[in-house]
Amino acid sequence: MAIQYPPRERLANVPTPLQPLNRITEKYSTPYGGPQLWIKRDDLTESAMSGNKLRKLEFIVAEAKALGCDTLITCGGEQSNHCRATALAAAKTGLRAHLILRGKALFGSDELPADGNLLVDHLAGAAVSVYPLREYVEQLPALFEYWAEHYRQLGGKALCIPTGGSDGLGIWGYIKCAEEVLADCAALNFVPEHLVCASGSGGTQAGLTLGCQLLGVASAVTGYAVCDDADYFVNKIVADVADWRQRYGQTFGFDKSKIQVTDSFIGPGYALAGPEIYRTIAEAAQLEGILLDPVYTGKAFHGLLEDVRNGKYRGSNHLVFVHTGGQFGVFPHRAEFMQYLDGL
Ligand SMILES: *Cc1c(COP(=O)(O)O)cnc(C)c1O
Repeated sequence: MAIQYPPRERLANVPTPLQPLNRITEKYSTPYGGPQLWIKRDDLTESAMSGNKLRKLEFIVAEAKALGCDTLITCGGEQSNHCRATALAAAKTGLRAHLILRGKALFGSDELPADGNLLVDHLAGAAVSVYPLREYVEQLPALFEYWAEHYRQLGGKALCIPTGGSDGLGIWGYIKCAEEVLADCAALNFVPEHLVCASGSGGTQAGLTLGCQLLGVASAVTGYAVCDDADYFVNKIVADVADWRQRYGQTFGFDKSKIQVTDSFIGPGYALAGPEIYRTIAEAAQLEGILLDPVYTGKAFHGLLEDVRNGKYRGSNHLVFVHTGGQFGVFPHRAEFMQYLDGL
């Protein structure tokens, strides 16, 4: 049965390419009996708006317009790809964006020159409020309410978008991507045994997992956590799917036992990576001409290659890694790359 999607604002260049990773497969998978590795290039959803968040924003912006909103309020880390994509998508669709950002230090980090995603946020004309880490963590709902009220007072109306755009609305983006990538594979005459992505706020994995189930395809979706543990992601994905069911009156019986999360490659913490991640990023650039990032895709891809080596994917023929973007987040890490460059 065809999936009925809610209204979508067209922002992404889809379908994104599905490409084989032949040089990496030859070096890191074939010798261990692993599958052919493929990459779904969601880093190419757009140039500046690049990455996975744009697929979610297509549905979020359409909803904002349907509700008569003139402002998008969202939140994230200072180098949030989601906030940057929201700022640009708002600009393009004539909406205002207000970003609630988590600063590093006690007093935020307004004093630092804007770099990477944050620089783009400013270029896109977004209003940016940076809060000290503790205030952000403890007060986030109140901060959303404060700014929503601020725009109400001005006669406007804001849509509040949760972290990463991950909720029952945003996951439509990756339900749709599941349908797209399975069609890409079908055109090449295979069904992938595995789909793999980085998991940060869980919406990408939730959408892919739900999408495969809705389509009745047995492909296993595995998320590589970049921050919280596996239990957190299982609960988050269940919650996003429950929100989706409730919002859209869906009765589909989602099988939560199919949620697979690997939390062995988080390293020191969110946005903190060891030398092995920087090395994998350099190697992917050198072998395949692709750019991974140290916060999400580099960690997930590194974990994937380790698991291929450990035999986790032995016996399967095709594995698709969904490249979720993050290019702008590479540059603020220039110092770490330099530190490890000699050993690469
Ligand atoms: C946000 C993000 C992810 C994680 O996606 P979620 O849906 O939040 O789990 C992965 N990669 C990149 C580059 C991202 O910006």
